[in-house]
Order: sequence, then C-alpha cells, then structure tokens
Amino acid sequence: MIDLSLFYDVVHAVGRSLDRTGVIREIVSQSIRIIACRASILRSFDIATNRLEVEAIAGEIASELPALAPLDLTLDEDQAGVAGEAVRTARAVVIQDARGDRRAAAYQSRGAPCANIIAVPLIHRNHVLGTLELLDRRAPGGGDGSGHFSEDDIQLLSILAQSAAEAYSKADLYAEIEAMALTFQRKNQELTILSHISREILGSTSVDDILYIILTGITSGHGLGYNRAVAFFLDQEARELYGAFGIGPTVDAVNRVWSEAPERFRTLGDYFESIDPESIAHSPFNELILKIRLPIEKNGSIFSRVVAESRGFNVRSTESLRGVDRGFTDIIRSSAFAVVPVCARELVIGAIAVDNCFTRKPIQDEDLVLLQTIANQCGLALDAARVVNELSMAMKKLEVATGKLIEAERFATIGEVAAVVAHDIRNPLTAIGGFTRRLAKRLPPDDLGQSYVEIIAKEVSRLEKLASEVLELASTRQIHPTDVELTGFLTYWKESRAQALRARNITMTIEAAPLTMKADARVLDRALTNLLNNAFDAVQDGGHIITRITRADSAACIEIEDDGCGMEAGDVEKAFDPFFTTKTEGTGLGMALAQKAITAHSGAIHIESEKGKGTAVRIVLPLT
Ligand code: ADP
Ligand code: MG
Repeated sequence: MIDLSLFYDVVHAVGRSLDRTGVIREIVSQSIRIIACRASILRSFDIATNRLEVEAIAGEIASELPALAPLDLTLDEDQAGVAGEAVRTARAVVIQDARGDRRAAAYQSRGAPCANIIAVPLIHRNHVLGTLELLDRRAPGGGDGSGHFSEDDIQLLSILAQSAAEAYSKADLYAEIEAMALTFQRKNQELTILSHISREILGSTSVDDILYIILTGITSGHGLGYNRAVAFFLDQEARELYGAFGIGPTVDAVNRVWSEAPERFRTLGDYFESIDPESIAHSPFNELILKIRLPIEKNGSIFSRVVAESRGFNVRSTESLRGVDRGFTDIIRSSAFAVVPVCARELVIGAIAVDNCFTRKPIQDEDLVLLQTIANQCGLALDAARVVNELSMAMKKLEVATGKLIEAERFATIGEVAAVVAHDIRNPLTAIGGFTRRLAKRLPPDDLGQSYVEIIAKEVSRLEKLASEVLELASTRQIHPTDVELTGFLTYWKESRAQALRARNITMTIEAAPLTMKADARVLDRALTNLLNNAFDAVQDGGHIITRITRADSAACIEIEDDGCGMEAGDVEKAFDPFFTTKTEGTGLGMALAQKAITAHSGAIHIESEKGKGTAVRIVLPLT
C-alpha cells in the first residue's frame, strides 16, 4: 500500500522549506518509503557540462551501486543510463525488467542486481534540473519479491520530482536574494560610512581636521577597518609627495601592546579605542609619516604612477618593490598596501595609502572603489576648505581696503573744504598781520595796547602756518627731484634751532655720512623739519635727539629718535591722521605732511613709540 499521508507530509514540508540540501535528502529518503523500493537517487543536471551528478542517495542497496560517477550525456545513450534518457526526453522512463536492458547496465551491482528502474525528470519552467530515480520496486504487500512500477507510482514520483524541482529553484532564488541582501547590506554600510564622513567633514575648514576625519573613517572598525592609513600631499614645485598625516600604530607598538596584555587587545579595534585621539597627532607613527618624502619620477614608482595616471594601485606584495616605493614600505614596515589618488578639480593633489599589516587581511581590488570614493570626498573637502579660507582672507583684505577707501574719501572731502577755507583766509590774514605790525610801531612802547597787538600777531602767524600747511596737504603738485644731500637737512635744522636747543639744554646728534640722492629738496626739508620739531616738542629740557642716516641696499634710511614723552599705544596709528594733535597749539598736520612727502618719493615712514620712553621715526627712501 502506498502511504499517502507520508506523501502529503513530504510535499508540504518541501513547499515550506528553503533548505535545499535538507529538502533533497528528505525527498530521497522518503521516496523509498512512499513507493517501497531498495534505492533512490537524486541527480542534478548541469546544462553547461551536460552532466548528471549525484546529489543524494538512500536505500538498502545504495552503498552497492557502482554507477554513482557523473553521467555524461554527450556520450553514448546507453552509458548515460536511465536518468540520461529521462533528461533527454524530459519524461519519466520506466524499465520494468532491467535484466538484459543495456540502459540499466550501469545500475547492476554484483551483490544485488536491479530488477526494475524508474527515472523521472525534475522540471522547472521547461528546464530539466535533474532526475529522481527509484530502483527495485518491492512487491506490493511487503514481501521480498520484486514488483512492478504502477501508473500510480509514476504519478506520485512525478509529483515528488516536481516538488524537488521547486525546492531547487526556490533555493536558487533564495541564494540569489541572499546574495542581493548581502550586496545591499554592504552598500548600505558603505553609504553609512560615507554619509558619516561627509557629515563630520561638512563645514570643517581646517586641513588637519579633514585629514583626521577621513583617516579615522578609513581605519575605524565601524568604517573601512583598515589597520593603518596615511595621507600625502603633492608638492608641485618640488615634485614630491610628502607625508601629511598617518593614523595607525607602529609595528613595534602593536607587538609590545599585544605581548604585554594580549587579553586586553583582542582586535585592532580594541587597540584603537585604547589610544586617545588627541595623542594621534603626536603618535610615533604620525611622526614617522611626517618625515616621509617620496619624489615623483617620470618612469615608474607606484607613487609616481598614482600621480601621473590619477588612479589607484593594489600592491599585494612589497617584495619586488624598489626605489621610492621600497623606501616607503621599509619605513612603515608594510608587506602589502593599496594607494589611491586624492583629486581636486581633476588635479591630483595628494594620495591616501592603507594597509592591513597586523590583521594581514588581504585588500581586494574591489575594496579600492570605496577607498577611492572616500579619497574623492577628501579632495572635495580640502578644495572647499581652500576656497573658503582664500575667500575669507580676500574678504578681510576687502574690508580693510573698503575702510581705507571710506576714510580716504572722507579726508578728501574735508581736505577740499579745508583748502578752500585756507585759501580764502590767507589773504585777509596777511593783511591783518601787516596792519598789526604797523600798529605795533605806532603805539608808544609803554602803551597797554602793545601786549594785545603781540597776541594778535602771534595768533595770526599761527593761523598763517595752519593755512599754508592745509594748502600744502591739499596740493596735488608733483615733486621736482634734483640732486640733494641728505645730511644737509639735519645740520641746517640743528643750526637754525641752535639757540632754542641751547636754551633747553637739548643735545642733538647726527650720525651720518654725506649721501646724495634725487629728491624734491623743499618737500623733503618740510617733512624732516616737521619730524624734528615733533622731537623737539616731545623731549624735556636736557633731553636727547639722535638722528642717523644710513645706506642699506638701494635705499637711504633716515632715523629720528628722541627720549621724550612717547605716545599712547593707540595714538601711534592716529599720528598720521590730519588734524590729530595732542598739543594745545598744534595743527595736527605735521606728520600727515611728512607722510605725504615720503610717499611722494615712493618711500615708507614708520613710527615706534613707547609712552614715557621716547619715539623713533624711521624713513626709508629708495635710491633709484
Ligand atoms: P602736531 O605736532 O601739530 O601736534 P603732528 O602731526 O606733527 O601734529 O603730530 C601729531 C601728534 O603725534 C602730536 O600731537 C603728538 O601727540 C604725536 N607725536 C608726533 N611726534 C611725536 C614725538 N616725537 N614724540 C611724541 N609724540 C609725537
Ligand atoms: Mg608737529
């Protein structure tokens, strides 16, 4: 009797399971119980090689069967056996009397000759996937004698074969899905790493920060998990790659740590967690990296090719390396590494190298794709940082320039107004001055009015000086250079002020050898006089004024030093501003005029001053 409940169990179990091997074993072992037989064989068919191979076998004569070698369907029909015929015809093949049938020759063992054979094909979507065979149908009723395969047997076996075929295709599909899931998982992980890195990098404008983030992403266990990573920058002028940052332990460090406390550091990830990120920059490995210089040559080294060809290399063994490459691997003691270029706007600006020198995990060629993607991100971030830095520097310059421009414009307006006013008051002032002097002569010497007239005369001459200084400052007159001897200006001032200097017991020294240059004598004299007057105003009685003229390269240097009151720190900058004065009778135009004069000679003027100590004004005039 056929055990139908067992049959349904098997078909159901097969329908639910995704375990291909399990299903096949189940079908093979149960088929001999459902249709009482002495052996059951399931073979899979490989369409590429045209062969049938045994996948599972069960039954009491299973071990005695000789023909379990693959059946080659390209050979003689008989040699391909009953199963071969089932594949070729895609139908069930039944041999009720196997003795003497050549197709059954392969199944005849010495100990237990096979009485009858049935083979059914496993078909899925018109493709034969394999065969299921039963040997030696027992006599119905459980006796020892042999029976015949009935129509029912053939049908049941066909259904079992069908189930097996489904299990086959389902398992294949499952394996495919599993592979897809794995790829997806990998891609997902890669995306996570990438998005993590880009989130960290976003807004980072420091090169060190960017390199730190990228290299930690490459080395951390949650990231790419490489043992070590090194970033290089390309020095275009020197034609070399120089080490910029390296993350990873040195070989010695790891050996030491692992030998000291092997249970503490089971993985490299543990090792990394044990070192504090702050110390990475000062780690021995990074210090090693910062010293590395790899020259870029025309022919050859891996690093040169990374730069020249802008592509990555996976160096599986460093044994055959020489020259520059060998230098690098010897320093970091690496036996295999990969290196990819870092590009910004299609130009190679550096490189990133990685290795797994401790775990010895081989680097696969396809791993370079993700490494390159991260290197590209690094290039983008570095380029963005460069642009941001340049931009902010340009902004700062622009701000300063704008400020200066606004200031200049303001003064230009004030200057114009002042010039007009000065011009308009100069003539009446001259007249007032003239009349005052005449008045003084006419008044008797003891007249009370004399003191008023004196005040008027003093104030008028102050106003005249102011008016002429304002006009001078506003003047757009070109300078007229002639041969002038510089020390002459100093000695002339000293002589003309000799009385005043003596009166206040001020010493003035001139350390200078004659030096002749092309300059506008009147303008330069005015400038130096103003500076010397300031020094005279600044020193106390008994003070010192030291002047020096030296020649440096192709420039004349004039220095006027005093040990006077000095300036407040904030006033040094303002000293050149027109009308800035700290004196009750000052015009605040002396320094502004001096600066204008020096600039007109393409020179530079600079003040150094300390409150209570003194002031030094230094002028540099180009001699050509
Ligand atoms: P003024 O002499 O009419 O005040 P200046 O333009 O010549 O105008 O100088 C501007 C200001 O700079 C002075 O009022 C003074 O505060 C400061 N200053 C210039 N030279 C010296 C100096 N040698 N020592 C101390 N302060 C000085
Ligand atoms: Mg002055």
